[in-house]
Amino acid sequence: MSERGPQVSIYPGSFDPITLGHEDIVRRALLFSDRVIVAVAHTATQRKQGLFTIRERVELIRHVFHDEPRVAVTEFSGLLVDFARTHGARMLVRGLRAVSDFEYEFQMALMNRQLWPEIETVFLAPDVKYSYLSASLVREIASLGGDVAEFVDPAVLDRLQRKLAQK
Ligand code: ADP
Repeated sequence: MSERGPQVSIYPGSFDPITLGHEDIVRRALLFSDRVIVAVAHTATQRKQGLFTIRERVELIRHVFHDEPRVAVTEFSGLLVDFARTHGARMLVRGLRAVSDFEYEFQMALMNRQLWPEIETVFLAPDVKYSYLSASLVREIASLGGDVAEFVDPAVLDRLQRKLAQK
């Protein structure tokens, strides 16, 4: 813990559902954070259409990190910088998979800094084996009957299969 108090990082996203790529980023963020808040964005702030409800996504992430007391999971709506300020967090964590992620991420980082100059965005590269993985690809493969067991936690796989069977 630094003299400025605990280093709280926020990892925002849609997490529909959480993948091993997301999990990898959270574990890397824990290497330099006292606490990581995984913040699931509400539908109004999402670009993509969802499969799981926000509550289901939060439950799944909590399950994945049930043995890690430094990880908190919550939903949020409204401005991310307001959410960060409320939680005493000055660091935003984002994952960068490929150059294609860069433009959007760079724009968001600079805009968030414009909205609150004290916020800093940190970009983390995942393990190379997750560098092509996205939740939307997992949803798509699973909905077409493909095997996604190597991309998600077993509990997520189970929920995914049950969810898709309902459809
Ligand atoms: P997705 O693009 O998989 O739907 P989100 O919208 O929930 O993911 O993204 C949340 C954050 O996690 C973003 O910064 C995104 O770039 C990052 N992320 C998602 N999947 C991975 C991965 N496999 N490796 C590294 N970062 C990732």
